[in-house]
Amino acid sequence: MTREMICIVCPMGCRLTVDTESLAVTGNTCERGEKYAVEEVRAPMRVITSTVRIEGALYRRLPVKTSRAIPKALNFQCIAALKGIRLKSPVRAGQVILKDILGTGADIVATRSM
Ligand code: SF4
Repeated sequence: MTREMICIVCPMGCRLTVDTESLAVTGNTCERGEKYAVEEVRAPMRVITSTVRIEGALYRRLPVKTSRAIPKALNFQCIAALKGIRLKSPVRAGQVILKDILGTGADIVATRSM
């Protein structure tokens, strides 16, 4: 069986076809596309972006993201885990907000200073 997908690793957006049994990939322009396609079939991963509450800053929500990709299946659990967080300004870009989110080894980090 084959599966078709668009590579989201870079703006080129190559159309990939993966044989789900042999994991042979076609349509990729570079090796990153092959790695992405195989990962999408085996265990999709995503960098999660969201916001958390912050007090005393220009805006009421601070943009955050995971420090690296985590299993896509944990997306909604990750967002839910951020709901109770309340920060106080100042926070600097890159500051760790929550370590080891859901035991994935990825941290939640601020993506801007506020
Ligand atoms: S296969 Fe390579 S060039 Fe094509 S979208 Fe993916 S990363 Fe970009």
